[in-house]
Formats: sequence, structure tokens, C-alpha cells
Amino acid sequence: MSESKKSSSSYFRDKISTVDEQGRRVWVFPRKPGGTLTNYRHLVAVVLYLFFIIGPFLRYQGDPVFLLNILERKFILFGVVFWPQDFHLIVLSLITLIVFVVLFTVIYGRIFCGWACPQTVFMEFVFRKIEYLIEGDAPSQRKLAKQEWNVEKIWKKSLKSLIFILIALVIATTLLAYVFGSDRMLGLYSHGIAFSSKLLIASWILTGIVYFIFGFFREQVCLIACPYGRLQGVLLDQQSIIVGYDYVRGEPRGAKKSVEKTGDCVDCNACVQVCPTNIDIRNGTQLECINCTACIDACNAVMKKHALPKGLIRFDSEKGIREGQRKIFNTRTIAYSVVLLILLTVLASLFTMRTDVETTILRQRGTLYQTYGDNAYSNIYQIDVVNKFRKDLNIRLKLIEPNGEIKLMGKDLFVKGGEKIQERFLVILPKLEVLKSKNEVVFGIYDGDRLIEKYTATFVGPNSLDVE
Ligand code: SF4
Ligand code: SF4
Repeated sequence: MSESKKSSSSYFRDKISTVDEQGRRVWVFPRKPGGTLTNYRHLVAVVLYLFFIIGPFLRYQGDPVFLLNILERKFILFGVVFWPQDFHLIVLSLITLIVFVVLFTVIYGRIFCGWACPQTVFMEFVFRKIEYLIEGDAPSQRKLAKQEWNVEKIWKKSLKSLIFILIALVIATTLLAYVFGSDRMLGLYSHGIAFSSKLLIASWILTGIVYFIFGFFREQVCLIACPYGRLQGVLLDQQSIIVGYDYVRGEPRGAKKSVEKTGDCVDCNACVQVCPTNIDIRNGTQLECINCTACIDACNAVMKKHALPKGLIRFDSEKGIREGQRKIFNTRTIAYSVVLLILLTVLASLFTMRTDVETTILRQRGTLYQTYGDNAYSNIYQIDVVNKFRKDLNIRLKLIEPNGEIKLMGKDLFVKGGEKIQERFLVILPKLEVLKSKNEVVFGIYDGDRLIEKYTATFVGPNSLDVE
């Protein structure tokens, strides 16, 4: 290989694929991909869209099945209501998820990016599809980008932008429906600004962000913004499954009609032309590769045309390509699996031990005892009840120990399913039962006649009792 060719072939290491020597953005015009893997990706994309769009409308016993209301701190996942009191479960679930992602990446590489990441799925199977439909395949898009602003360019670009904005609005509305519920979003679009100006503005801002991401920022999300993408360098090892070029079989590359003896790569550049991140996979694994498999399909079509075996670019590991053998499980994989198993076990036991009603009873802050009539003392308490059930609860509060009386200071303790209440009440104990300045009182929290929970609190009496 000549010196100049050598330096140009390693040039990709000095810069990212979408920036030119002057530091300007190189706009990527990938060719329309096609083939078996692209068809499977279509299927996966349709399932994911349906899940995304239908998700906020799914109901179980009248409540959403999915709700991630960060502002009101109400979370429903697969129909199970989570409260701030379940925060430890959410943290543990997130840790489990991170470990799972790490483990998954060590074994299967970046397959999530190319097949299931919302960024790729929306970009390649919604926005790019519309672009191909309006502006044609890569060469026509390139030509349109270069040409003067004439009628053709204006109507094509305007139509594309309009459709992109409408789709961005649908995506933004659906995302907000996961946070605020589908009823509120439907209410917003049936009643307009009178329903909620804040929500309307939020949906416009989010629409603008989605439009910017898919209309302009595009592959830059994967290349410079996504933390998962940045982590690939430390997660992948020689045995991770990647989209890889079989250089053993493919090199030296060259046209088949060449007099020199060449490998199977005919140097047609089809794999580069379909790449949405503008890289040449023949240079080896690169951070820009999102494992979208478009180059596998493109190369397989070329191999077929030249009557050569498929799989010059394929899912394999670095080691597999080098040695012709695949070994998925290594020490790191087993270690991650053990950690994952332990976390899943802890998580499962925490979920099973999770109670559906949570009560907190605390003596009203800053208050002391009061004398109640001639023969009793009283303390004020505050009760918080979180009803994680879907059904409403009519809570009855009883004093189990010692003998005494409870007087509610507000409404009855009625808690709607999935909601919480806070009320104050008075505990009145005969003076005979108050033997010290700090006495233990035990409350019973009942749903009808069913004892849900016992709760112990302190009842304060006069300090003088400790001296006597
Ligand atoms: S190199 Fe292949 S798999 Fe990687 S991003 Fe480009 S087309 Fe997709
Ligand atoms: S598509 Fe296949 S044959 Fe063509 S350049 Fe890429 S690796 Fe070589």
C-alpha cells in the first residue's frame, strides 16, 4: 500500500466521520438500506411504535398502565402504582437496569442502538423514510441540497419540514401523555389554550426539540451526545458481538477484474454508502457504529451479485473474525451475570415485601400535652396514609394500647385508590394511663374489620411524672 493511501486509510482515526477538516458538519446522505436484516428491523420498529403510541392509552381498572409523573411524583409501571415511599425500589430497579445494559453490551455489543433505541428507530424508520419519499435516494438528496433555491427545492423542503413538525408533535404529545396522562393531553387538544396554557407551551417546546433532533441533529446524538455510545470503548472486548468486517477473507480488497489477486471485498463502497453515521466498517470497530446492520445487507447483496458467500460483513466478535471461532462467555460476562442475579433476587424480594397501604403517625411537631377535662391528657397527631391499592379505603383508626379515645379533627379517613391523605387527630388518655412524660401508644389501622397495620408512637405527659 502506498504511503499516501496508508495515511488516508488511517485518516478516520483523527476525526469523527461527520466533521470535515475545517471542523464543519458533514451532512450524511445514506443510501436507502434493504435486505433481510432491514426487513427484521422494520418489524421490530413497528412493534416498538405500537407500544410507544398505545402505551399511554392502556388502562387497568380505570388507571393508566404506564405513568411517569415526575412533577407529582406518581409512577405507574405495568399497572403497579409506585409512590415516593417506594423510591428505594426505583433506585434498585435503575441499578439493575444499568448492570443489565452493561452485561448485555459486553455480550451483544451495541445491538440496542441499531434495533431498539428510539433515536435510531424514529430516525431510520419514520423521518428518513419520509425524506426518501419526498427527496429520493441519497444521490437525489445530495443534488437537491446543492442546487439553487428554486420551486422544486422550496416545495420539497417545505413539505418535508411540515410533515416532520407534525410527527414531532405526535411524538412530543405521546411523551407528555406518559407524564401527565393521556386524558390531559386529549383534553389539551380538544379545548386548546383554555385547558392549560403551561401544558400547551410544554408540548410546543418539546415538539421543537424533537424536530431539531430528527431534522438537524440526527446522528450527532449517537456520535457526541449519547452517554451509552461513549461507554462502548470500555464495555466492548474482543469477544463482544459486533458488526464486523472479515478482513481475513476480504483483504486485499480490489475490483474482481483486477489482475492482482484480491480478497472477497470488491471495494464497491456499498457498505459505506448506506451507513447512517458515515463510517467505513472495513476500518474496524468504531465508536460511531450503531450496529444498525445496514452495511451487512448492502454487502450481502454485493456478495450475491459476485457469487461469493454472504457474511463478509456480519455479526461476529473480533476474536471470531481473527480466529474463526466464537466464544460468548468469558470471566467478565460471568461476573456481571452473578451481580445481575443477586440484584434481581433482592429486587424481587423487595417487590414481594412491598405493602399496599403505608401509614405514618407522628405527634404534631412543636406541640406538648394538653389537659383534657379533669381526668385526662391529650396529644395531637398527624396521620399520613398512602393507598397503593386501586380500590378506595375507608380507614378506621383504633387505639390498641393503652385504653383511651381517638377524636378525628378533620374529615373521615377515606383514601381513594392510588392516592394519599393527611389528617390530624387527638388522642385522649385518662390520667391513670399516663405514668411517665413519654408513654408508648399503639394504633391499629383497619380497613373495615381487617387490621392492615399496627403503628407505635409516643404520647407525651407532664415532666413532673418522671420525678414523682
Ligand atoms: S458501520 Fe454498518 S452497522 Fe455500523 S452504523 Fe454503519 S451501516 Fe450501521
Ligand atoms: S460492501 Fe462488501 S464488497 Fe463492497 S466495499 Fe463493503 S465490504 Fe467490500
